[in-house]
Amino acid sequence: MSEATGQPAPQASGETGGPSGRQERPPAPRRRGGGGRFGRRRVCSFCVDKVVAIDYKEPSRLRRFISDRGKIEPRRKTGTCARHQRMLTEALKRARHLALLPFTAQHIHLSGVFPTRG
Ligand SMILES: [Zn+2]
Repeated sequence: MSEATGQPAPQASGETGGPSGRQERPPAPRRRGGGGRFGRRRVCSFCVDKVVAIDYKEPSRLRRFISDRGKIEPRRKTGTCARHQRMLTEALKRARHLALLPFTAQHIHLSGVFPTRG
């Protein structure tokens, strides 16, 4: 009994270098809709209020756009449009300079700007 236990022999002899013009993309799985988690519309909250200039002296308003760690929330999370996001970051940075908003999580602990509200 002698069985040839197979080493897969690659048959690569024959065509050398084919025209590689073929590239089929696999259909990227996109998640569309169906999400029940985010009930809100993707509308910039500033646009809704027709805000022309974001006031950096209103930390209570800016607070929404800052994460627990004092970071500026990304647009995709807040739904802010590009224009207002830009204004927002400016305002946030100014507010930080005025110590109205924290820079880091440490600042939050130290200054207690973020009162934990249920
Ligand atoms: Zn906007």
